[in-house]
Amino acid sequence: MPDLQSALAVLATAAADCVEATPAASTVSDDALLAFQRELAASTRLLETAAASLAAEIAHRSRRELGYQGLAQKRGVRTAEALVQTVTGASSATARRLVRVGTLVAHNAGRYEPSAEPWLSDILAAAGRGALSGEAVDAIRSGLGAPSDTLSTDALADAARRLLAQAVQVTVEKLAALAREARDDLDAAGVAAREQELRERRYLRLFPQADGMTRIVGLLDPESAAVVTAAVDAATSPRRGGPRFVDDDEVARAERIVNDERTTEQLALDALVELVDVATRGESAHIVGARRPEVKVLVTQSDLTNGVGVGRIEGQTAAISIPSVERLGCDGGMVPILFRRDGAVLDLGRRERRHSAPQRTMIAARDGGCLAPGCDRPPSWTEVHHIIPWSHGGKTSVNDGVLLCRHHHMLMHNNGWEIRRTGSEYWLYPPPGVSGLSRLPGVPGDPSSGEPVLLRSKSALAGRLRRAS
Ligand SMILES: [Zn+2]
Ligand SMILES: [Zn+2]
Repeated sequence: MPDLQSALAVLATAAADCVEATPAASTVSDDALLAFQRELAASTRLLETAAASLAAEIAHRSRRELGYQGLAQKRGVRTAEALVQTVTGASSATARRLVRVGTLVAHNAGRYEPSAEPWLSDILAAAGRGALSGEAVDAIRSGLGAPSDTLSTDALADAARRLLAQAVQVTVEKLAALAREARDDLDAAGVAAREQELRERRYLRLFPQADGMTRIVGLLDPESAAVVTAAVDAATSPRRGGPRFVDDDEVARAERIVNDERTTEQLALDALVELVDVATRGESAHIVGARRPEVKVLVTQSDLTNGVGVGRIEGQTAAISIPSVERLGCDGGMVPILFRRDGAVLDLGRRERRHSAPQRTMIAARDGGCLAPGCDRPPSWTEVHHIIPWSHGGKTSVNDGVLLCRHHHMLMHNNGWEIRRTGSEYWLYPPPGVSGLSRLPGVPGDPSSGEPVLLRSKSALAGRLRRAS
């Protein structure tokens, strides 16, 4: 084994030579330039591997059971990651990755402790050789996730090996997307749970700043991102090489946007504020240009009819569950596109499934807002829910459409609640075997009793008419 001290001395000299030699690259051919860059990246990966290995040793000497005798603790910092950061001057994200990946690689090689994630064995061995960067390890690891009741360790190990073969040809971002796709393909049953998990992490916070500005910080789950991204893209699209417009009005609008003095980021923010402003005034039509932004949901016919499998929102990498596909096709402003297994497009019907403006007006007059018990969302904030799912031939009629806000629409589809009509009355049925997850907040009584609840109109007028009759 080479001596680390002398290897580092040689490295320092060689690295300094590299820095000194790089200005001369201005005279080499394109091919040579790219070859240099590639070679340097390979060496950088090797060095990162060495750094991660040392970070793992620092973490081992700082492990919890050593208490105050731990290395980090003796140096007056709380964690190994913080110590690595102080010593290297790296960002905390980089320091944490060095410790994390270094420790995984070390465990995989049988140092300290046996590996806790054996399905990543080949990935970690490649990282240990410097053939895979720490970022790539993180991308594969978080995309693939852990084995579960629905996915075996062996199947996950196979997927990891396939990703390793692709890893050298793609960017880290692409690798992360491929890893998530691999997981979705193997584990359709887990998609609903992961979708739920991502949705749980959504948030938005506004931080007033000392200078009078307000900072927006938040995370959008894939479905919310699809809605917001489509709206913001529509407001800025000519700047971003969007579609070519044919219609004169749209050409004029596109020119206006291109010639606008505002930056693309300022336009995006203004569009978002405008959307909120108009929505709260209750005039939600025609906000961002001529067309309502179109978001597409892709699903195979067989997955949809059988209720198992996954769908995808175009432009988003996370798969979505079949109940979500149903809901988005119900009235989420999304266009479902049905495929056969062989990839042929079967149907992209939409008009016939969206209630017309007059139908919506009638439903709004009848329901007066979201029908969910205790909800006060007015009609302008609601979507029309088909009480018989469109995939089961539900009609786009006034009688079989009810108003639900986005939140309650989501709970209805994704948690298996059902609305059934008896004459002119709408009844809410809890899902069979109601669990903590499928509770519908605001519903009176005990949902586990299975008793249906009569849904009452939020319209004062409809209420008076009912009492009078
Ligand atoms: Zn619906
Ligand atoms: Zn509601």
